[in-house]
Amino acid sequence: MTKVVLVAAVALIDRDGRVLLTERPEGKSMAGLWEFPGGKVEPGETPEAALIRELSEELGIDTAASCLAPLTFASHAYADFHLLMPLFACRKWEGIPQGREGQRLAWAAPKALRDYPMPPADLPLIPILRDWL
Ligand code: C5P
Repeated sequence: MTKVVLVAAVALIDRDGRVLLTERPEGKSMAGLWEFPGGKVEPGETPEAALIRELSEELGIDTAASCLAPLTFASHAYADFHLLMPLFACRKWEGIPQGREGQRLAWAAPKALRDYPMPPADLPLIPILRDWL
């Protein structure tokens, strides 16, 4: 049976309307591709709680569930698992995002999002996000 993986992702939007992308580091699957920050939802966690935890661990920023607006949902069949990935939007957090796990960060203008090579699950999210912004 196909394994289902639930990952929560977020478009962090700064005051200039730019969106944060993070590069998948060496050693991870799809290393070098750029993605919306986030991570796996652990058993018993809500997607919002998973994002708050991942944003603190990976980027060193704090946000609240009330600042996470549900935007859309990615559903993508990879060769070895099926990825379900809700995407939230967030304009309010505390701290300055930093790649705490060595990952590179990029603030991309909405028009430039397409210039970053992304995992296939993330690509359909781009036009939805751009329309929303
Ligand atoms: O980041 P992590 O490796 O825990 O994510 C699990 C899987 O979900 C990855 O192997 C990757 O294939 C996929 N993923 C994705 N787009 C993201 C985050 C994860 O396709 N933004």
